[in-house]
Amino acid sequence: MRDIAADLMITSSCSSLRLAGSCLDPRFNLALSFLDGPGRAYVGSVLSGAGGEMASKLFLAAYASGHELGTSTMLVNSMLRCFGLDLPSYVCVGAVDMTSHARPTPEIRTFSTSTFEVDAEGALLLEGLVTDAESVALAERGDLVVDVENVDTLEPREAFFRLEAVGDELVVRVIAFQFPEALGPVRVRLLDGSAIMRRAEDAAQALDRWIRLAKSARVLTEDIDELVGVLQYTRHTLRSFQSRSWWASGTADAIASRTQSVLELAREVRGRILAELISGCAGGFWLTNAWMHGEFRNETISRGRCPVCGTASIERILRNPAGESRFVVVCGRDGIMLDTEPGGAIQDLDVRFSDVGGADRLGYAVTVDVQRDPSVMSPIVVRAAISTPGRAEVPCRPAEVVLESGDSIAEFSFELDEDQRPNTHSVKVLAATDREIAFAARKVSTSGHVVAPPSPRPSTR
Ligand SMILES: [Zn+2]
Repeated sequence: MRDIAADLMITSSCSSLRLAGSCLDPRFNLALSFLDGPGRAYVGSVLSGAGGEMASKLFLAAYASGHELGTSTMLVNSMLRCFGLDLPSYVCVGAVDMTSHARPTPEIRTFSTSTFEVDAEGALLLEGLVTDAESVALAERGDLVVDVENVDTLEPREAFFRLEAVGDELVVRVIAFQFPEALGPVRVRLLDGSAIMRRAEDAAQALDRWIRLAKSARVLTEDIDELVGVLQYTRHTLRSFQSRSWWASGTADAIASRTQSVLELAREVRGRILAELISGCAGGFWLTNAWMHGEFRNETISRGRCPVCGTASIERILRNPAGESRFVVVCGRDGIMLDTEPGGAIQDLDVRFSDVGGADRLGYAVTVDVQRDPSVMSPIVVRAAISTPGRAEVPCRPAEVVLESGDSIAEFSFELDEDQRPNTHSVKVLAATDREIAFAARKVSTSGHVVAPPSPRPSTR
């Protein structure tokens, strides 16, 4: 070591600095041997030396930016501490105030927003103080994630942060670095890591929901194994991110992109399930049938009043061992009226219809008023079918209505052939958010007059 013609050395290795004599020959005390030669200062770890390449990069970026040797070492220790990687273990021996004199010590700017861009053109190290209240609150809760990328190349840049008190005020100090190339123009984003994980978990739960419905309704049976595989892989990936004490730049976007693809897959699966179920609804299928294949059991049974005919109805809450539950209303006269998730986003489905048949044709106009929890932003997909047991499907126009947040009315029309004039039809409706499904059915008279629920109406016989 004493023969190395350098004035400074950092060794990012376990126990790379021994302060006292060790069991090894003194020549293998790297620090003392190096300082015996032309070297003026030595930096190493007295512990495990966690930090590896990042620690070396940060040290070199800080030192080359004009920070004193002691400050550069302290920054490495800060990063270990802030990331929760290790104890601050790097020690500097020798001329702690030496500098590279290559550049002046970079200025520290203050930013008031959670996202900002800095043209750090030739800089290796960027320090900023962020006063944005939400970012400070996230850091206090342990939910803050800092992501830095080059604006032009979108390449991630190394970064870490620390919550600090400046006077009476808490601020987030962000430190981004790169070595040996410069940072370039960078975009710094302070993000809510727990919200990113929540959205990812919601998408996984949406996919899980549709897989479980497909199983209990016995549809898409050939695809179930593959979908379960995607879900397991997604959950495994999410757990691996959740267990890390910090996210490298780029991680948040990687999770968001995975979230989006899982959500799109869940919506595609939902679409296929709805198409299968609505086709069954044209026959003898009721959504409540699907739960019977699962492990749903009656939890409570109470008396209610049918929303259409006003006679006594039975209201059941069903629950399965996984904790899923259903609220099912059955009228003695009208059959199953409603099947929803208790406390869910779709609170009720009000189905109204009018007979628009003329002299030469028979048809229905069906209006579904979806009573939704206004706080749920997920679009709601609505499909409808006319149940004509034993007969062909009646075309529904449009096949599907998507209600964006704020919309609640879906309108459909059905046109029947002359030979489809049975005594009684039912209108069946399925409505679904990203992770919830609801069902409603109404008996409908085809006698040629307009039927106006919900006032009590005469028997269809
Ligand atoms: Zn009724």
